[in-house]
Amino acid sequence: QKVDNPYLNAKGYVNPEWKAKAESVAGGNRVSNTPTAVWIDRIAAINGTPDSSSNGAMGVRDHLNAALAQGANYIQFVIYNLPGRDCSALASNGELKPDELPRYKTEYIDPIAAIQGDPKYASLRIINIVEIDSLPNLITNTSDKPGGTATCDTMKANGGYVNGVGYALAKLGAIGNVYNYIDAGHHGWLGWDSNFSPSAAILREAAGASGSTPANVHGFIVNTANYSALKEPYFKVTDTVNGQTVRQSKWVDWNYYVDELSFAQAFRNELVSKGFSSNIGMLIDTSRNGWGGSARPTGPGAMTSVDTYVNGGRVDRRFHTGNWCNQAGAGLGERPKAAPEPGIDAYVWVKPPGESDGSSTEIPNNEGKGFDRMCDPTYTGNARNGNSMSGALSGAPISGAWFPAQFAQLMQNAYPPL
Ligand code: BGC
Repeated sequence: QKVDNPYLNAKGYVNPEWKAKAESVAGGNRVSNTPTAVWIDRIAAINGTPDSSSNGAMGVRDHLNAALAQGANYIQFVIYNLPGRDCSALASNGELKPDELPRYKTEYIDPIAAIQGDPKYASLRIINIVEIDSLPNLITNTSDKPGGTATCDTMKANGGYVNGVGYALAKLGAIGNVYNYIDAGHHGWLGWDSNFSPSAAILREAAGASGSTPANVHGFIVNTANYSALKEPYFKVTDTVNGQTVRQSKWVDWNYYVDELSFAQAFRNELVSKGFSSNIGMLIDTSRNGWGGSARPTGPGAMTSVDTYVNGGRVDRRFHTGNWCNQAGAGLGERPKAAPEPGIDAYVWVKPPGESDGSSTEIPNNEGKGFDRMCDPTYTGNARNGNSMSGALSGAPISGAWFPAQFAQLMQNAYPPL
């Protein structure tokens, strides 16, 4: 009874808590009726967290009731609470310890499944974005890789991510009107062959773990909460300058993809080849990858060298594609849209724009959020961002908390412009 594309001809749920925050900033009413995802970022968020920095008093049931009242056809949740969460970074470490998979199942997934499965909500298409920044970390960020971490080693060895994702898929996928999309990184993370096929393989493994099968997976999402450009209009990965491939440029650094659309379409084919249904669809989080404003190039770079050509023409203005925290100069991207391109179910706003990725300086808190130097504008980097500056905005609060200055800049640099 599931439809092929739950976004098609469907009205999305507008989260009133995000809408109010957006409208607290001048000009925010231009985008505040945009559907954004509801992040269930801790166990308490199932019933509402009036005292957390992210989200608010509304719990899962409140959001579903509000979706019915709005006459919405679909609502988007982010399932985000794995044990040992965010093993390669610190800003979004969660509440569950690496060995707390049993609590993830019984205190987090089971109650969510009970609510989403309530027949009262059977008319809604309930879309779950499943566990961002998890499985690919087991391929790219274990300690045998440059900059890898001991926590990622632990989560690989103890099966917490694979079995947690499998359990979530099996429980939630069993509900007739629930659609699971698993997180699949972004081109600047998985676009090299060393990461591409192995990541697809571990996603397939998780889809078969804890009693799940690939049938519980409706599709995948790329670029969640990231800044990678949807399309690089002024250069292609196949371009050459003076006989040299642009893959050799410092920015591309031998990646096979230069933007999210080409990556999403290719990764979809790879996932099908690994055993997922040929009907899977991809989502692209376009909430913050607009890269408009006065710094946006209007044509290709100079053909002096691969570097002048790529750096002069790229719309993604980051210092490095590995930079992920509160990027200065970013803008709102494409507004949510169903079936925009072949293989793509929708452009979506999963990261609610204006919610921080992490604090710029250490801020003590009791929400499990650490301080990651990638959010510090003075940080000069590490092996995972080519030892580049972090590119982060200053003055940011902890991850998930409202960051009005960032929201104002995102609107200013929106592309398409507002
Ligand atoms: C935070 C969550 C928050 C989410 C959406 C994540 O980085 O860790 O607490 O709900 O972003 O803003």
